[in-house]
Amino acid sequence: MNEYMTHKELDIFLKALAFAAEMHTGQVKKGCSKLPFINHPIKVASLLSSISRKKDIPLLVAALLHDVLEKTEADPAGIRAAFGKGVLGLVREVTDDKSLPDPERKQRQIESAGRLSPVAKKIRLADKICNMRDIMTYPLGWSQQRKLAYLDFAGKLAVELRGTDTRLERIFHREHSAAMRAVKAGTSRGAL
Ligand code: ZN
Repeated sequence: MNEYMTHKELDIFLKALAFAAEMHTGQVKKGCSKLPFINHPIKVASLLSSISRKKDIPLLVAALLHDVLEKTEADPAGIRAAFGKGVLGLVREVTDDKSLPDPERKQRQIESAGRLSPVAKKIRLADKICNMRDIMTYPLGWSQQRKLAYLDFAGKLAVELRGTDTRLERIFHREHSAAMRAVKAGTSRGAL
């Protein structure tokens, strides 16, 4: 089995990266004015690439694009035209309803987790791992209580996503425990 991308696949991947970077122009990770938002989807795609034996291009492209519908004015028709119906479907699966307040969005993520496609489940889990890493690494300006609430939410979501991918779940649990310990001890970077 060839574990490398073909030239054509690399072209599509880079096209998605350029598209996502353009859509997220000027956006920064909340509380981190110098960290471009695009680093987040790049890290999600990078994590998924590192745990995949076979390169799954729709998965990696959707990972790069996973926040464009929720956080930018990206046009779904444009995504479909450039990257296909399958990728648009995956991005839609992991897009929250923007009209709902944050607690409700998180509740919906937990409730709908079991109904996601296997590929969308991987993106969801990788997204949470990267967010937990950010909590550990960057001064996000979150209170200890807010960090613990996020970790509680991520933990509940991971329960619903059980059976998604052994390696990814192992990484999730390792990061979740480390983040929990650091936040409780007040040693995570962003502790207030
Ligand atoms: Zn995300």
